[in-house]
Amino acid sequence: MRGRREFLKEAAAAGLLFVGCGPAAAFTQSREDRPSTRHRAIEIAGRRVRTVDIHAHCAVPKATDLLKQQPNPGGLFLEGQALSERLAHMDAQGIDLAVLSINPNWYTAERDLVTEIINIQNEAMAEFCSTRGDRFAALCSVALQFPELAAVQLERAMTKMGLRGAAIGASVDGQELADPKFHPFWAKAEELGAVVFIHPQGSAAGGFSSRLRGNGPLSVMLWNPIETSVALTHLIFEGTLDRFPRLKICAAHGGGYLPSYMNRSDQSCQVLPEQCKPGVPRLRPTEYLKRLYYDSLVFTPEGLRHLVAEVGAGQIVLGTDSPYPWVKEPVEHILNTPGLSDADREAILGSTAAGLLGLSAETRGR
Ligand SMILES: [Zn+2]
Repeated sequence: MRGRREFLKEAAAAGLLFVGCGPAAAFTQSREDRPSTRHRAIEIAGRRVRTVDIHAHCAVPKATDLLKQQPNPGGLFLEGQALSERLAHMDAQGIDLAVLSINPNWYTAERDLVTEIINIQNEAMAEFCSTRGDRFAALCSVALQFPELAAVQLERAMTKMGLRGAAIGASVDGQELADPKFHPFWAKAEELGAVVFIHPQGSAAGGFSSRLRGNGPLSVMLWNPIETSVALTHLIFEGTLDRFPRLKICAAHGGGYLPSYMNRSDQSCQVLPEQCKPGVPRLRPTEYLKRLYYDSLVFTPEGLRHLVAEVGAGQIVLGTDSPYPWVKEPVEHILNTPGLSDADREAILGSTAAGLLGLSAETRGR
């Protein structure tokens, strides 16, 4: 067995730093709040189940340096100790495996630079996960502003580097994911069976941003779920999901506001047919929601119960937004939601994600 000191040395060499997707000031943790290091084993009806967190952030400092950007405005970089704290949190929360991804902040970069950045990030994540495949997997980064290049990067990451899919923004430098220019990427994702995790960006609010100024982190609190809702709606209403029916899309934050109010979309083309292309989308809009996947970041048992009622328990996977403390007890959130069967809970906690991502059962029972 590799010792902790050696492990930390290897992780540092891989160049991975953990950061979050909210304001840096949110990550404040007193010494008293730090979790114990005991790895909680989650059981359902006396049987050990593996938990998989599909929503866990990281960054690669060499790539961030190249972009001349800070991944968080407060300079939140966590090295060495942060990695051991991440593992301690996972242990305390009962998270067996975290699926890492990097929030895209490179969609305006030119081709040569973004090619280098994506190579650095994917290689760093692959190297890191190769040393700790028992606790971490990763979704690759892609230069989605160059869709055909992104398709090549996705294929290389999945077939040569052991990464499990891709993480992308909910828009690309002001362009919708449903724009036909992105068809080469969607075609490759469908061909590879890749999970595509869509994570919104507060910076993508564009002309809406002036209305997000004021007291409270409105860009994170309000815009993130709005942007996800807009992105998914375009993918449905522009026919992207008809063109690529086998896509495995997972939306962050429970899909934003969309699953809570999707029935309005079903009625809209009946009320305003002159604004809808005939036959697009082919199905009722709510039918597409039942084909997409969502993380469990909806905060209350009632919120999760409702999401299950709208899309089905089989479409929901555990997500924490780690290392940001949006949820303190993400496993209990699922265990305590009413109306779920044991099979539903096991699916949401890990087995659905494991199937989507092609994860082996190597951590089961640890
Ligand atoms: Zn996030």
